Amino acid sequence: MRIPLIAGNWKMNKTASEAAAFARELVQRNMTSPAIEIVVAPPFTALDSVRHTLGTGSSIGLAGQNLHWEDRGAYTGEISAPMLKDLGCRYVIIGHSERRALFGEGDDVIQKKLAAAFRHGLKPILCVGESLGQREAGHTTEIITGQLKGSLAGFEASQLALLTIAYEPVWAIGTGKAASPEQAIPVHRTIRQFLQQQWSGSLSQTTRILYGGSVTPQNVSSFLASEEIDGALVGGACLQVESFASIADLAQKRTGH
Ligand code: PEP
Repeated sequence: MRIPLIAGNWKMNKTASEAAAFARELVQRNMTSPAIEIVVAPPFTALDSVRHTLGTGSSIGLAGQNLHWEDRGAYTGEISAPMLKDLGCRYVIIGHSERRALFGEGDDVIQKKLAAAFRHGLKPILCVGESLGQREAGHTTEIITGQLKGSLAGFEASQLALLTIAYEPVWAIGTGKAASPEQAIPVHRTIRQFLQQQWSGSLSQTTRILYGGSVTPQNVSSFLASEEIDGALVGGACLQVESFASIADLAQKRTGH
């Protein structure tokens, strides 16, 4: 069974003290449940304050928003997998469309970052998604499978056991124009089929595939109603406790707990 995952990507928002205040509110909301997994991805500078505010043993997990593929060295401004682990991260977002578009990350770089995450037992949330032009030209399947092929090449099924995939159509991110479940579900099926063909049926059945792109408390249930969609990667709506907690609540209701 795949436990739904609700992950909040804070992007470049909140100072360490704002992040601690936010985390304090999350703790007060007591929003955790064994039926779902909740993860927050604050900026690197706020990981430590969020970790301390959530407290040891918190069931809200921490994620990095990015990492470098080497463990250490002369890479000014970069952060490595061991550094994220040391700050209590269980997850790391890799290949977000903003990293691809604004920082020139291609599938080869993403593949190296995934390798670093696997080496250190960090669970990557790999983002894939097509642009509006690619969708309108009918190239969605080709783009998604190309991104998966390019970034997952050479990994063993045992490594990929740590992987979560987030389908994030680029045109839906931060635009308020979420994909419809009818648009998202076939892509989720394509991803699952790809895992089955390249690795195994069991990997395809155990890997969580999230939807991301303008998820809100108003639309999250329509995505989670599908067995194909195992949770959400949330951007804008995770920045207020109220909306993030509502999304988590609704995800929990889907599971019947
Ligand atoms: C994201 O950046 O991963 C994202 C899904 O953002 P938003 O929810 O704001 O569209």
